Amino acid sequence: MCIFSLAVNMSEPLIAVSRCPICSAYLEKPVHLKCECSICLDCINALQKVPRVEGLLCPFCWVISLKNDIRPNRQLGQLVSSIKELEPHLKAVLQMNPRMQKFQVEVTLDVDTANNRLLISNDLRRVRRGHIRQNRQLLPQRFDAGICVLGSPRFSSGRHYWEVDVGKSTAWDLGVCRESVPRQGLMEMSPESGFWTVSLRGGHYFFASTKPPTALCVDLKLQVVGIFLDMGMGNISFFHVEDGSHIFTFTGVSAEEPLCPFFSPSNHLLDQGVLSVCPVMSPATARSPVHPGE
Ligand SMILES: [Zn+2]
Ligand SMILES: [Zn+2]
Repeated sequence: MCIFSLAVNMSEPLIAVSRCPICSAYLEKPVHLKCECSICLDCINALQKVPRVEGLLCPFCWVISLKNDIRPNRQLGQLVSSIKELEPHLKAVLQMNPRMQKFQVEVTLDVDTANNRLLISNDLRRVRRGHIRQNRQLLPQRFDAGICVLGSPRFSSGRHYWEVDVGKSTAWDLGVCRESVPRQGLMEMSPESGFWTVSLRGGHYFFASTKPPTALCVDLKLQVVGIFLDMGMGNISFFHVEDGSHIFTFTGVSAEEPLCPFFSPSNHLLDQGVLSVCPVMSPATARSPVHPGE
């Protein structure tokens, strides 16, 4: 396993165990409740009192803890201190690697797959929801209900990188999907259904299309999303290009069949959010496609 995959697999469970479910910050002097939930010592004050038995109610499992049930968890406290020290190192390992950009490929939008509600620019780089339904040819590969469009080329091996400018849009879905995903009817966006995507809703809620969805902590100033697909490793990673920070990585992405870049702009007419595929930075540094080990 490479250091990047190791950091991805380590960081999510470590962050989950070190956070207080009440205040969302690192656990401060953690205490154990009767239900085995751990919260900060000071967050005890936020629990609802049950005067009848002089107990406190856990808001997550509805179990009442009496005074004697609440015990300090020093081991967890020590673990949290170690995780606090480790987190900047994990973030550094997960930071976007400039070498990824040499795998940048020219991605364009495939109009033959575009939902008729979508407007595609003549250079095949920009897409947004239009006011008027387009009268494009009826094709089996065209999405009829999903407000989305696929990108070209399709990928069946190697490493590939592309960037998408999401502008000021308050809602979008970006990532990859299997070439075989159904084009008729509404789709369930999950890896089981062949979608590996990161989404924004309402201008502030970011999530990954895991099942159940994973809420993501992303800087709201995000404007350019870097997408790195490594079919040899079975990973797809999303980065905040401006500051190089890691957004999310899906592991176990199947390379059994071709994958396509996936774009779904906001469906709200008032949003007018445009998704733009960024041009390859410099022809000298971009190659395509590159296979693992090269
Ligand atoms: Zn609990
Ligand atoms: Zn707390």
